[in-house]
Parts: sequence; structure tokens; C-alpha cells
Amino acid sequence: SQEKVDVLIYGPSKPVIDGGFPANFVLHKFENQHDLSRMTPDIAGRIRGVAVTGLVQADAVMLARLPKTEIVSSFGVGYDHIDFKYAAGNNIIVTNTPDVLTEEVADTALGLLIATVREFIKADRYLRAGHWTTQSFPLSPGSLRDRKVGMVGMGRIGQAIARRLDASLVPVVYHSRNPAKGVAYKHYPNLIEMAKDVDTLIAITPGGASTAKMINAEVLKALGPRGVLINVARGSVVDEEALIAALKDGTIMAAGLDVFAAEPQVPDALKTMQNVVLLPHIASASVTTRNAMDQLVVDNLKLWFAGKPPLTPIAETPVKGR
Ligand code: NDP
Repeated sequence: SQEKVDVLIYGPSKPVIDGGFPANFVLHKFENQHDLSRMTPDIAGRIRGVAVTGLVQADAVMLARLPKTEIVSSFGVGYDHIDFKYAAGNNIIVTNTPDVLTEEVADTALGLLIATVREFIKADRYLRAGHWTTQSFPLSPGSLRDRKVGMVGMGRIGQAIARRLDASLVPVVYHSRNPAKGVAYKHYPNLIEMAKDVDTLIAITPGGASTAKMINAEVLKALGPRGVLINVARGSVVDEEALIAALKDGTIMAAGLDVFAAEPQVPDALKTMQNVVLLPHIASASVTTRNAMDQLVVDNLKLWFAGKPPLTPIAETPVKGR
């Protein structure tokens, strides 16, 4: 019989994960940080693989309790919730779930942009309240027809969003630290300079220290009074207080947000505004795409413990010699 492999399943319970492992895998399920407190040292000492099945924090304290860990298979393409520096320093491979969610997230970004600019959610509320029977919905001040989009981030998902904008005949430019390979859109090394030249920003960068609050009061001011901000990246990328102030005083026109600084808490100031569309972090959240992400979390672990390279290791923890 095959050697037993003890795996920690950390996060919400899901069918593809729960039923996805071969018989020699011994699954130890812990839903959240609080739940981890019932993990005995005996179990902790046997864990060789970790599946992080939601956006739960896998920090150094948590990983240090699992000294035999070889691989952390994380759900989602962003991995700012994993201490990958600790992993890299302790010979632990981290994997994520890129590509399988790209088109879904790009669909959401474009849907959120149109819903925000054309006020779809407000119009839905108007109809349900019965106002249509007495008066037509007011014309939307915004339109995609006269807009130019500045992408903040032009990676896998940024490029998929840009393709959708191409189809909608909306001009696209972008900001990132380095020009993206094989991309013909104009590159701005400086975010403020780009914000001055466009009226719409779509954020789709990773979270973490290097992008923290990069969309700040100065950027929003440069975007200007017709400005629209769409954030499908991470809440940390935007200075949320500066955004609230800019939406209140007309520094920018509107925002569509899928992500927030302190999820699942969303500031009341945003919830009471009419010029924002708020989504509960659902950019990749369809059954089809979430199942594909869960499957990749499982496949990375299965391959690793079969002695093969995992499919999608992150750049910071490269796999050698498999
Ligand atoms: P990629 O790694 O392919 O692209 C990341 C892009 O961000 C690159 O263009 C990169 O360019 C740019 N970038 C990185 N750091 C910086 C920085 N400090 N300043 C400016 N630009 C930067 O990732 P994906 O496109 O696959 O995913 C992007 C992110 O989208 C994820 O990390 C995640 O945070 C978010 N996401 C959100 C989802 C949601 O549910 N709302 C779902 C999926 C993803 P360069 O390195 O040259 O700077």
C-alpha cells in the first residue's frame, strides 16, 4: 500500500477538495484561525501538505507550527494571505491557481465597469420601487462611449480585461512597474501621469506591500471629476479613506468595488452612497470557476506527493529537481 500523507485542509469545506484526494491522503480539516487551536502537536508534527481553501491567513506563526510542511497549495491567484517569504526560507513550495480564473474575473471587471458607469444597480432599485410607472429613469451621466481606460496592472487578468475593452472600442493604456511583454498598449511607468491622461482606472494588481494604497488622494485628484475607479485587485491597493472623501466631494464621479480594506467589513460611508457599486469579493465566484480553482489546489498536492513538479508554483518558491 502507498505511504500515508497527512494534509491540513485549512478554510471552508468544499466538495472538490473534500472528495478529491486519493485514499492514502489523511485529511485534517480546520475551518479558520480559531479552529486551528484544537490542532494537537501530534497532528501538527505529521502534516506534510497544506491546502489553503479560502482567503484565510497562512502566516509564519501558523506555518511554524507545521515543521514537516513541504508544500502549501493555495486557492486564488493572489497570495498576499500566505507568508511566502517564510515559505521560501523554510524550503516550502507555495502554489496558487492562476489562469483558470482569468476570463471569469475579466468578465466581472467589465460587468462592474458598465454597471457603475451606466448606473444599472440604481436603475434596478428604481424599477422595483415602482418609479418607472410615473417617470423614465434619468439618463446616465456616464457612458463608455467617451472614456479612456488606464489599467493598473497588465498581467494575465489585465490583458483579458483589455481584450474586452478592445471589443467595446474603448481605448486602453496601462501602468505597471515594467512594460508587459507582447503588449502594444501605451505603458506609463508613472501612475499619476497615467491618471491625468485617462478618466477611468481599473485596478488588477496583486495586493501586499508593493501596491499598498498606491491609488491614493493624489491619483484620484489626477483622475478628475469624470473619474471612475474599478477595483477588482485587493482592497489594500486603494486608500479607502481617500476614496470615500473623493466620492463625497466630487473629486471623482463613481466607483465599482469588488474588494475592500477590511473584508467582510465595508465602511457605512460607501454603503450609503448612490455613486458606487459594491460587490462582496465575487470576481471569480461562479460554481464552474471555483470548482476549477479547487481542482488545481488538489492537483498541485497530488502531483507533489507523487514525486512530480506541481503545476503552478509561485515565482518566489521555485521547484528544483523534480
Ligand atoms: P499577474 O501576476 O499576471 O499580473 C499582475 C500585474 O500587476 C502585472 O502587470 C504586474 O506588472 C503588475 N504589478 C505588480 N506589482 C505592481 C506594482 N507594485 N505596481 C504596479 N504594478 C504592479 O496576476 P493576475 O493578472 O493573474 O492577477 C492579478 C491580481 O488580481 C491578483 O494578484 C489578485 O490580487 C487580483 N485578483 C482578484 C480577484 C478578485 O476576486 N477580486 C480574483 C483574481 C485575482 P509588474 O510586475 O511589471 O509591475
